[in-house]
Amino acid sequence: MSHHATPHGLATRLLHADADLGLGTNQPVVAPLAVATTYIQPEPADLAAYLAAARAKHFPQPAHAVVEDAEPAKPYIYSRMANPTLDRVEAVLGALEQYFGEGAHAVVYSSGLAAIAAALHHAQPRRVIARLGYHGTLFGMAEVIRGRSGPDANTPCAVVPLETALAGGAPLPGDVLVVESPSNPWGGLPNLPALAAWVKQTEGTTLIVDATLAPPPLQNILGVKGVDLVVHSATKYLGGHSDLLGGTVVARSRAVAETLRRERTFLGAVPGNLEAWLLLRSLRTVHLRVPAQAKTATQLATWLQSVVNGEITLLAGTVTKVHHASVTYFDEVPDSDDPAAPAPSSVARALFPTEQWSPVLSVELGSKAAARALPHLVSYGRAATSLGGVESLLEWRYQQDPKGVPDTLVRVSIGLEDFEDLKADWTRALLAAKDVAEAVVAETDAE
Ligand SMILES: *Cc1c(COP(=O)(O)O)cnc(C)c1O
Repeated sequence: MSHHATPHGLATRLLHADADLGLGTNQPVVAPLAVATTYIQPEPADLAAYLAAARAKHFPQPAHAVVEDAEPAKPYIYSRMANPTLDRVEAVLGALEQYFGEGAHAVVYSSGLAAIAAALHHAQPRRVIARLGYHGTLFGMAEVIRGRSGPDANTPCAVVPLETALAGGAPLPGDVLVVESPSNPWGGLPNLPALAAWVKQTEGTTLIVDATLAPPPLQNILGVKGVDLVVHSATKYLGGHSDLLGGTVVARSRAVAETLRRERTFLGAVPGNLEAWLLLRSLRTVHLRVPAQAKTATQLATWLQSVVNGEITLLAGTVTKVHHASVTYFDEVPDSDDPAAPAPSSVARALFPTEQWSPVLSVELGSKAAARALPHLVSYGRAATSLGGVESLLEWRYQQDPKGVPDTLVRVSIGLEDFEDLKADWTRALLAAKDVAEAVVAETDAE
């Protein structure tokens, strides 16, 4: 279909010699990165009529869900507004979020904090009420709301701790409550139904839940009435390979998701094309990776709790506390409608219907020196911040968050290693960390 004359200048030819191999409306301006090793073959032409008839008889419903109220396809104009990879990521992430029911629509951002900033921008807070473990969100929120006006024109919008807001009685219009479920790094679960009931006493309030530490198919946050928006750092479990930054806001309606996308166009917080592509790759296996990681986390937490209980003489005193829902909910936590209380067992079980908890756990060790040493001593894990990768990641969390955690705490994100190998590795590493701590004490005593 060469409708133009063949150019003779080399420069022109270098730019346009492949024009017939992929230009056209809605086609990208530059060559897309095609990494597939295999290609879909055409149907045998002589069988076309028989294939169509057999298909109509045996496959009346196509394998993929037909979205009844889908928007008609929009032309692609500029990748900050919409692009083919982003559309595919959002379709697949929406399907993951719909695991527990219809009515979940994912909008993707350039990072978890960009997603939280977008959710706050959407909610237009007059006051932000927070119960957070992740220090970055707290600092980020203060930046986002800087200069906004608070409950009345003379007060600035502020971040208020949940306890303070609860003590003040009913919430105020424009209050935005942001909580983590589970909390980073403690793994605690807030009493979401009670929090939702409290915040929704007042009209014009918003409840945002950061579910980064346990995405679907582990946790059904939208099952809690009153939750408006769910956010995840896709950098963690959704991405899952420690190779991309991303985030998502999940809305209950297509209309809210469309508004978030419109706002994202102007906030500019779309992921880069490569990151969106990597995230799409990752989402193909999230339902296999994350429950497997969660299962191993429970096995390791249970074993570490037996160390705390003194059942493993060799390791006595090395671990003093394990923070993981499998430990918290080993005994029944009684029902409560106190919004400040941790989730009772009934709430926790409803949130985690597959009975796998988060793949993140935290341990407190016998000393600060042991906690600093352990991440560097394990063989099957990396001493690094972040979480959610296929390889286990361990971090002496005090380094990132000295105000929030004790200096004996190690946060662990469990990867896809075999549990028996982790157990043997941790046995060696806990003993080695104890040696390091004793050597540090001996040296200090000698000084
Ligand atoms: C990592 C993390 C974030 C921030 O996500 P980024 O992708 O790093 O911006 C927010 N919330 C929680 C709970 C996190 O663990």
